[in-house]
Amino acid sequence: MTSDTPENNSLDPEDWDSFRAQAHTLLDACLDHLQHARDQPWQPVPQPVRDSYALPDTGTGTDTASLVAALRDTMLPYATGNTHPRFFGWVHGSGMAEGVLAEMVAATMNSNCGGRDHGMVYVERAVIDWTRRQMGFPDTASGVLVAGTSQATVIALGTARLRALGAGVRQTGNQDRRLIAYAGAGVHSATSKAIELLGIGNANLRLLPETGEGLDVEALRDQIARDRAQGGLPFALIGTAGSVNFGRYDNLNALADVAAAEQIWLHVDGAFGAWTRLADAPWRALSDGIGRADSIACDFHKWMYVPYDCGLVLIRNEAEHRAAFAARPSYLAPLGEGLAGGDPWYCDYGTDLSRGNRALKVWTAIRAHGAQNLGAAITANCRAAARMGALIEATPRLALAVPVVSNVVVFTADDTLDAAAQSDLNIYLAQKLQMTGEVVFSTTLADMPSGSGITCLRAAITNHRTAPDDIVRAIAAVADFRPSGPA
Ligand SMILES: *Cc1c(COP(=O)(O)O)cnc(C)c1O
Repeated sequence: MTSDTPENNSLDPEDWDSFRAQAHTLLDACLDHLQHARDQPWQPVPQPVRDSYALPDTGTGTDTASLVAALRDTMLPYATGNTHPRFFGWVHGSGMAEGVLAEMVAATMNSNCGGRDHGMVYVERAVIDWTRRQMGFPDTASGVLVAGTSQATVIALGTARLRALGAGVRQTGNQDRRLIAYAGAGVHSATSKAIELLGIGNANLRLLPETGEGLDVEALRDQIARDRAQGGLPFALIGTAGSVNFGRYDNLNALADVAAAEQIWLHVDGAFGAWTRLADAPWRALSDGIGRADSIACDFHKWMYVPYDCGLVLIRNEAEHRAAFAARPSYLAPLGEGLAGGDPWYCDYGTDLSRGNRALKVWTAIRAHGAQNLGAAITANCRAAARMGALIEATPRLALAVPVVSNVVVFTADDTLDAAAQSDLNIYLAQKLQMTGEVVFSTTLADMPSGSGITCLRAAITNHRTAPDDIVRAIAAVADFRPSGPA
């Protein structure tokens, strides 16, 4: 400590009254942003704004008024744009106003949710229990909130590996056992990454052919038999509820039958599609059978509209879950009461010791809207996708690449062109429509009846702000922005 540094060097505001006044203006700016989300599409970040983000190496910081101005004027306008009602790219949740309240309280409390005895671990338990019931898991199941489905998949498959190799895997690693996992060809890259991280190697993730009803169960049975005959150790079957490319659903009951007969772990990647559990018919049935899985990964930050980031892994067998991840050195030893009580600690269910408060924003969303209204929003998104699909089919030269199953729509802007020209046009349109702020589609590769391997436009509707007219406007924009005449 240098001589001119006071010993009482608190970083709290010196003048709380002025800080409070500034904070109130910022809260208003945040709420204005959401209230007028329709006027706030994504926009590129101008170079001077980017330059303004650079941080000085030295100095004593800035006053609250300048700080608040920077947050309001140089940060808020340059978001990903997924709060806008015509943002349909990738699979992005649209966030909710209650999230602002929950995050404000969570930041104030600054709880460490790795464990110990305090309110937020009970809130997390309430969130896990609620989801467990929606998914049809037993009350003995365990779970932990994580950054997203990617992390949830690592935890789920890590637990599956422990079942296959025994608790000794934590000491010895995989040794020479050739673990093999199975999934449909459309499985998300998160599964491949998890397999890699667990030292299994993605060559041991068998990608099976898919039909309209998801992965081909006959091909799966045959592949498992071949792998066993060659000394492999089939350990996990990954079912997909809502594939990221086309929104397809595996037949989870059929997969559960195979997993039971073959004695292998069934994990369901339900990042967004698991939430069809809350939707009306016919969409709810897409995730039938999910409750028979050994583990489920799902996200609150996509189709539950909760602000980023928040996913969940649910594990049917708590003992296996804990056996795979529990690690409590003496400084973390549990005590009967006091702060070190509150067992179980969430650090024993995953990779993180220190953990932020992800539970409160989920709890707030569910408390604010209830399963019924959240489900109604999900159903409305499925209806919007169906409407988008119908409009595409009714518009000259637009064509669907695959049937619309739930909330994902993949299409080409002009099926009269050759394959390369269609790809070029779709890529052009995706960028043009984003740059104008009109609508955000992303792109993906699909086989069209008119030609294979076409880069198509893709919408994943997980947006509670999307009104019926937004769908009409989005498809009209695609048609209108097409260059007229031959390409
Ligand atoms: C988004 C997604 C993932 C990855 O989840 P993150 O929350 O982004 O980590 C995995 N699977 C599917 C089907 C997804 O849509």
